[in-house]
Amino acid sequence: MGNLVVDNAQNAQSCICPQCPTYKKSELTGILYCAKGKAAESAEAAGCICPNCPVAKQYNLDQPYYCMKGKSVDLK
Ligand code: SF4
Ligand code: SF4
Repeated sequence: MGNLVVDNAQNAQSCICPQCPTYKKSELTGILYCAKGKAAESAEAAGCICPNCPVAKQYNLDQPYYCMKGKSVDLK
């Protein structure tokens, strides 16, 4: 199981999803997928920058593509 990421304003502000190639290529509108879960929109994988994100570092996250896979806490 991944760590539980808190869905709060500070983490939302730190999330770098909108800068990522997958985000730009797809029509994603959300943020903080590691805490909130999968995106409502479908996404096509084109690279994930989660490993560079301060939230991933803070919570020791080890996976990419939370926008497609869902919350960190739900992932093995
Ligand atoms: S780890 Fe990924 S999904 Fe989570 S806040 Fe950072 S960029 Fe967004
Ligand atoms: S979870 Fe990863 S692939 Fe998805 S939008 Fe965030 S940085 Fe991009």
